[in-house]
Amino acid sequence: MVERIFLSSPHMSEEGYEKKFVQEAFDTNWIAPLGENVNKFETELSSIVGSKDAAALSAGTASIHLALKAVGVEEGDIVFCPSLTFSATANPIIYQNAIPVFIDSDEHTWNMSPEALKKAFEKFPNVKAVLVVHLYGLAANMDEIVSICKAYNVPIIEDAAESLGTTIRGKHTGTFGDFGVYSFNGNKIITTSGGGMVVSNREDAKEKIAKIRFWATQSREPARHYEHKEIGFNYRMSNVAAGIGRGQLRVLNDRIKKKQYIYNYYKNELKDLEGLTFMPVHEWENSNCWLTCIQLSGKIRPIDIILALEAENIESRPIWKPMHMQPFFEAYDYIDHGSVAEKLFENGVCLPSDTKMVNDELERICKIIKGLWV
Ligand SMILES: *Cc1c(COP(=O)(O)O)cnc(C)c1O
Repeated sequence: MVERIFLSSPHMSEEGYEKKFVQEAFDTNWIAPLGENVNKFETELSSIVGSKDAAALSAGTASIHLALKAVGVEEGDIVFCPSLTFSATANPIIYQNAIPVFIDSDEHTWNMSPEALKKAFEKFPNVKAVLVVHLYGLAANMDEIVSICKAYNVPIIEDAAESLGTTIRGKHTGTFGDFGVYSFNGNKIITTSGGGMVVSNREDAKEKIAKIRFWATQSREPARHYEHKEIGFNYRMSNVAAGIGRGQLRVLNDRIKKKQYIYNYYKNELKDLEGLTFMPVHEWENSNCWLTCIQLSGKIRPIDIILALEAENIESRPIWKPMHMQPFFEAYDYIDHGSVAEKLFENGVCLPSDTKMVNDELERICKIIKGLWV
């Protein structure tokens, strides 16, 4: 059996940077808690994306949770959230006992529709926060979204879990809002085996990020005994995981280049197939192309491609199933704007986008897909 090709799997540096930083943690016995790798991972990531401060946490999901808390989302508050996303975007709204209102997508970006967002503000002017996602490494329309949210004076949290490195005219996704969140889960563009980061560029970024670190370490007050005035969480990143992260940051640009190469390879090979179109990558953004996704409008359906690849031990997936269609979330409000999220889901496939793939493998995948059209 040929080796399995994955959608997106961990890819450590050929140079062994990760091992060096993890070894340092062992040598100094700073396995846990915290330590130099955590501090340096925060400052190094901050300087790459251009944020004032950053807190390294145990997961992207935990990072979204504490970012919501940092903008004051509490029980009964409304939070706008795109419907087309992974459930990890929406779950932390529920952790805070707040209420998600799901927003339809824009077909030009696949992300939150500014028109649907305007409708949502008219219906729920008392909304507490807006969660924006940059899906598959595609940037949301931040020009419009930021200006709408500014007009209503409502804070923005960017779920940039999938878009580390994606920029809009040179500015990193995750740095447009009050808080930005990255994920280092095993399938993301770089990984720490599991982890997340909250960044901020607010005036009070230092204070707010310090508060997030405090909540993430059980809200321990500075006292000799264990004193707690607030609810705490065990959400900090370990010094070992941060060592892997520091190594991975050194190859982030290589990973972005390879993801973009994969996107362009598929595009060149498959662009003439009838009814097949590619996810929109615009010239105003530099997308990290985390996953290459396509839409199908002809007689070949997503399941045909998924099954044909699966038969050859190659992993591909449907597009995220929208939150308003999920049994757990279907009772919440949904601002529809042409059912774009549903159409993207029904017609979409994520193609294998693993950065370890070689040209022979890409060629094999394209041959299987083209074979469905003959
Ligand atoms: C992966 C992901 C998350 C969650 O990150 P974890 O580190 O796995 O908790 C959140 N949102 C989106 C869009 C993601 O893809």
